Amino acid sequence: MNKEKITELLQTIHYPGYSRDIVSFGIIKDISIQERNLSIRLNISTENVKVRHTIKQDVHRALTNTGQFDQIDLIMDDPPAKPETNEKASQSLVSGNIKHIVAVASGKGGVGKSTVAANLAVAMAKNGHKTGLLDLDIYGPSLPIIMGINSSPEISEDKKLIPIDIHGVKAMSFGFISGNNAPTIWRGPLVSKMTQQFFRDVLWGDLDVLILDLPPGTGDIQLTLTQHVQLSGAVIVTTPQDMALADVQKGADMFRKVNVPVFGVVENMSGFYLEGTASKDAKLQLDGYGDVPLDEKDRFSIRLDIFKRGGGLKESKRLEVPFLGEIPISPEIALSSDKGIPVVSAQADSTLALCYFNLAEQLEKALN
Ligand code: ADP
Repeated sequence: MNKEKITELLQTIHYPGYSRDIVSFGIIKDISIQERNLSIRLNISTENVKVRHTIKQDVHRALTNTGQFDQIDLIMDDPPAKPETNEKASQSLVSGNIKHIVAVASGKGGVGKSTVAANLAVAMAKNGHKTGLLDLDIYGPSLPIIMGINSSPEISEDKKLIPIDIHGVKAMSFGFISGNNAPTIWRGPLVSKMTQQFFRDVLWGDLDVLILDLPPGTGDIQLTLTQHVQLSGAVIVTTPQDMALADVQKGADMFRKVNVPVFGVVENMSGFYLEGTASKDAKLQLDGYGDVPLDEKDRFSIRLDIFKRGGGLKESKRLEVPFLGEIPISPEIALSSDKGIPVVSAQADSTLALCYFNLAEQLEKALN
């Protein structure tokens, strides 16, 4: 059995949790054969002991089953101590000069990932950074709605797409091109091709940061997307329910696998603030909350934890990634998105906008 045949065999082994094979992940390094003795070096970048063990076991089993070898040595490289990024492979794909590319990801849809990505981008732009926003949510591009864009991007003389300048941000979305007619099922290779085009054929120009709104989930497609560019890091958006939090782990694992640092977790829809004014002698009581105190201006502010509180913080501690902050659930966030003006742009001085500015500040720190 020669090296090619061995590689073919190893291509039938999936990376645990993914449909992609271990060879395509670049795990197989050296194969050396001496008669019936075989030695292979495995370079697995994750520190996850279970994943490392499963891969080793699967490789050993597949090779043993061939009956061609008396001795099989599998040498495991140590996982990298610090996340490294694959600079050369990716940066060349990007047209323009982009200092940082940051992915905003979530384990599932509907947690507010696109809303966070858009408001974060606007906040970064308001803080003086040249910012781009690329919506890669091929299944349901929502950026055109959130940013209020109805036009299609123009094409430059050298046939490149010109991103749309809106709310201080250079925006580009799959939805600008496909409209509502995007096929609902996109296969990996096609997605991969489209994504490369977004980097190569969009005139980004000079950017301090390009924010990517990834499709929800942590599977093959997200992994493929993240492998096309050199990501500086990723932000994971979740909601406080246990079901959503469980997916944060998958997201963190995915980025670690490709050596992308996870900048942290944002807990969205985290509590609802009921606010207003009461007359001086009013005694407000809320079921389950007791007396509601008034401040010196007779205003009250009560936080209602619709789901529960602190899940994101606990989860980020457990995963040893920073907690970037909470964003409350607020009709104003949803309404301003529906109107096409992200809340950071519509009400830049509001406490809601402040949540996103805080997030932008954390991101600036992480990038520095
Ligand atoms: P995702 O990108 O995760 O699928 P979206 O950003 O499209 O999620 O948000 C899903 C819905 O939730 C949208 O209608 C959006 O306006 C709303 N939404 C997001 N964040 C908030 C929030 N903090 N408060 C209220 N509504 C929100």
